[in-house]
Amino acid sequence: VRSTGKLYSGDIFTKANFSGTIQDITQKKLEEQRKDDFLSIASHELKTPITTLKGSLQLLSRYRDNMLHPMVVKLVDQANASVTKITGLIDDLLNTTRTNEGQLFLNYRSFNLYEMLETCCSHIRMREKYRLILHGNKDLYIEADEARIDQVVVNFVNNAVKYAPDQREIHLSVEESGGMVKVSVRDFGPGIPADKIPYLFDRYYRVDYSGVQYSGLGLGLYISAEIIKKHHGQIGVDSELGKGSTFWFTLPVRKV
Ligand code: ADP
Repeated sequence: VRSTGKLYSGDIFTKANFSGTIQDITQKKLEEQRKDDFLSIASHELKTPITTLKGSLQLLSRYRDNMLHPMVVKLVDQANASVTKITGLIDDLLNTTRTNEGQLFLNYRSFNLYEMLETCCSHIRMREKYRLILHGNKDLYIEADEARIDQVVVNFVNNAVKYAPDQREIHLSVEESGGMVKVSVRDFGPGIPADKIPYLFDRYYRVDYSGVQYSGLGLGLYISAEIIKKHHGQIGVDSELGKGSTFWFTLPVRKV
């Protein structure tokens, strides 16, 4: 809100200033609504052709080794990787509009958290050269939407890979304290400036790392926060510049 800056800079809080602020907020809300409507339509429209494209590429991949020239295999692999990236972005947009419309439904079931993280790590190891090190309590069960919790962990790890590209190690841990279970993903990247941390989980927020362009929409952490909030847990980050970041969430544990 533009006038907020004015108020903080010591101006007298007059009626005129106040109505200006309300107008700005209404205008901002309308703009956000228009942006959401557009994104919702655009992402739905994109989803169908991308799904068809993905299907065709997967079919091609199946014949890869015995029928395709190695050059074609390489191109198909690259196309597959790009389609996976686009699908992820579209899913983020769809999840965001669903979340805003209160349509994030959870499918609760009981599962072992360590096993879930192990599966998640082995999937990521297949596509990344990073050393993913998992440690912690192997006997913790939670009652939650497994696919959604997996989405949060994958989002943390993908960010660690993206924003800490010079490091080759990521540590995951799962531990229990006071009836809550805590999952952490630690990277050894550049860390996040303290004044940016309060905004990280806001919709569309991205830190401006001047000079370096990272792909993304600024929605992953927002969606992760919505998922964890809906599970009655907490989400956060501890970070130190030059040392790295630890993104974490907590959830109620279930005794078995
Ligand atoms: P995106 O990655 O699409 O920008 P996210 O919501 O996942 O969106 O992240 C928001 C912002 O938080 C990122 O733009 C980045 O600036 C910062 N961030 C997230 N994870 C890390 C990390 N592990 N190290 C440094 N910065 C990070």
